Amino acid sequence: MSDTSRVTLEKITALCKRRGFVYQSADLYGGLNGVYDFGHLGSLMKNNIRQQWKHAITQVDGDIIFLDGAILGPQAVWQASGHIKNFHDPMVDCTSCKKRFRADDINIKKACPHCGNTAWTDVREFNLMFQTQLGAASNHSSTAYLRPETAQTIFSNFKNIFSTNRVKVPFGVAQIGKAFRNEITPKQFLFRMREFEQMELEWFCKPNQSDKYFEFWKQERFNFYTKIGVNPEKIRLRPHAQNELAHYSTQCVDVEYQFPFGWKELEGIADRGNYDLTQHAQEANKDLSQIDDETKERFIPHVIESSVGVDRLFLTLLFDAYCEEQLEKDTRVVLKLHKNIAPIKLAIFPLSKQLAEPTKQLFNEIKKHGYICTFDQTGSIGKRYRRNDEIGTPLCITYDFESQDDQCVTIRHRDTLQQERIAIDQIITYLYNYFSL
Ligand code: ATP
Repeated sequence: MSDTSRVTLEKITALCKRRGFVYQSADLYGGLNGVYDFGHLGSLMKNNIRQQWKHAITQVDGDIIFLDGAILGPQAVWQASGHIKNFHDPMVDCTSCKKRFRADDINIKKACPHCGNTAWTDVREFNLMFQTQLGAASNHSSTAYLRPETAQTIFSNFKNIFSTNRVKVPFGVAQIGKAFRNEITPKQFLFRMREFEQMELEWFCKPNQSDKYFEFWKQERFNFYTKIGVNPEKIRLRPHAQNELAHYSTQCVDVEYQFPFGWKELEGIADRGNYDLTQHAQEANKDLSQIDDETKERFIPHVIESSVGVDRLFLTLLFDAYCEEQLEKDTRVVLKLHKNIAPIKLAIFPLSKQLAEPTKQLFNEIKKHGYICTFDQTGSIGKRYRRNDEIGTPLCITYDFESQDDQCVTIRHRDTLQQERIAIDQIITYLYNYFSL
């Protein structure tokens, strides 16, 4: 019997650490709060997430241009975007235990959740951007910021992108990259980090098309999650109320996932109007308008944004895939990850160490075709299956004593536990068909 309800944050965190998906950054020195390093399995899986996202957004009708912008940005960019003025969280300290909280996370009419006292400082606004200085001189003009979102490098490069890519609205500019926020209270593992990665798409269109594309991207992005295996009952679209909207957006919807700690934002989809391009045009004193082919009038494109954190999606996929299954003799932990998300595509075992040589040959042949696979010859076959179930490996191939005679191997499927016998010279075709998008 399969049970997905027993997943907890503690189990996911422990699995990530035990199997080398994720480590606390600077673990050796006591760790850096809100900052994580991704190990072998984690970095492979993150790469698969990025690839699936790219694949999904490039399927739509219209050009998608990619950008890999800088992390450091000058003050002017963040002045124009409104981040220097508006990118704050309300912060409050307990004067007794000195613990710091986001004021909107707790009820300050009640006692401190840490020490139980009720003496609070005033609520202050705390800017979430990391500020730094460029070069040796420390003055106003050398101030720079680590970007708190990737989107602004897209807007500030709009003129370059437009003039070098022969594109016409509607088109999208997509970027995957690091973002940094000095979160007051990083928490829930990868859910709220101080250094994280975003996948953002800015879709530029004519002003009268923004409603149509807002609806289009809402649907498209929702479908993306079901395509990469997320349980549709655990995701929903939640429109923002008027008083929730960010200063730049006219309509916004969150894709939310039902985590064990509640329904939470996974992705934001926002109609940003022409706010960003207008702001940058004013601050830089440059014309960022375009000519409408039909009316010959100038207009500033409107933008529909889709923004999701790679790490938050990584965590979501682990929660969604985790299950504990009662088998005849024991319980197995299995990550039922989508085959295109799973970090290791297949594991290859010799039934006995005596068969290591021909099994290795098969392993090397499969690797040459670009499949990320592992060779495992230690422990019983049952233990080897369990090790691979726990990291989500979709297929295990066993080379046994009969293989030498019939030139076939056994393929075992992670979720159904079904086994089938396949001719060795058909394996590459089999894998190609199985893993093709
Ligand atoms: P939240 O309300 O959770 O703070 P937000 O509304 O500030 O999120 P956005 O600015 O819309 O988030 O960022 C877009 C996406 O980037 C989020 O949906 C999330 O997936 C990811 N993200 C934002 N902040 C973090 C963070 N501190 N750690 C990990 N991922 C994040």
